[in-house]
Amino acid sequence: MICEDQLVINKFVKEASKYTKLGEVADYIPALKTADPDTLSFAVFGETSSCLCAGDSNETFTLQSISKVITLALALMDNGVEKVFSKVGMEPTGDPFNSMIKLETHSPSKPLNPMINAGALAVSSMIKGENVDEKLSRLLRFVQDLAEDSTITFNDMVAQSEFDTANLNRSLCYFMKQHGVIDDDVNTLLEFYTKQCAIEVSCSQLAKIGFIIANEGKKLNSNEQLIPTHISKILKTFMVTCGMYNASGEFAIRVGIPAKSGVSGGIMVSVPNRIGIGIYGPALDERGNSIAGMHLLEALSNHYNLSIF
Ligand code: GLU
Repeated sequence: MICEDQLVINKFVKEASKYTKLGEVADYIPALKTADPDTLSFAVFGETSSCLCAGDSNETFTLQSISKVITLALALMDNGVEKVFSKVGMEPTGDPFNSMIKLETHSPSKPLNPMINAGALAVSSMIKGENVDEKLSRLLRFVQDLAEDSTITFNDMVAQSEFDTANLNRSLCYFMKQHGVIDDDVNTLLEFYTKQCAIEVSCSQLAKIGFIIANEGKKLNSNEQLIPTHISKILKTFMVTCGMYNASGEFAIRVGIPAKSGVSGGIMVSVPNRIGIGIYGPALDERGNSIAGMHLLEALSNHYNLSIF
């Protein structure tokens, strides 16, 4: 028997799918160009221990900027709040995610927040580990624990494709190195960052990670604390203020839920103390968010009254 919620979700996913035609897949990372723009998949996790899904919720895609939330959690757990925020700020920028402008116009030139590329690169440099392999295996283990799947790994082809073309990110790193924000060898940091962004998940796995952040860092029906509560609060706050690029304000008004999107077309959503949602729709709007995913979330938020405001 199909439950009522499944029927509601099927209907909203079908309606939102029409919007895929109005967006375009990201092409500045060559390996992302091959994604099927018509795809829209969805999973929700939380109220019961199984996911409600629509579309191909097991299809995998790379985290891209969604990894910034997870890496921030690990960096805060590794270094503490004070040290991390001595290198990166807490304010939204209103600029595109890869912009350099505020680094140059603000003094001191520390990145304004961890959800823009400059801030995420500074956060990645704080993950503990002797070398890229050690840092990456710690991060992968963390993602595997959050998603309860030890097979999660990164897509080497996507990582290499970004590494080969990441000249803008390289320039952000050199600028920050010049100003003492980071200390790393730039290509070593970029190797870690591009592999972090290329970690592959499905919507169902993303929904589980989103749920843990929603559930104050704990697994469903368990007291196992994978992320300390105070850190899960910080993550949700950044997801509200800067999670949806320079559309975060509009998203807060229209949808009103902590969420983080990536240029692969993924969106991770954490409805506090309720559910986690994973969405994959690679056709993007002009600000880099999944165009059908945005419409789907607006419909769901209105129907289920999910706004936190
Ligand atoms: N790896 C991508 C970059 O640094 C992530 C961007 C994104 O998803 O917003 O450009």
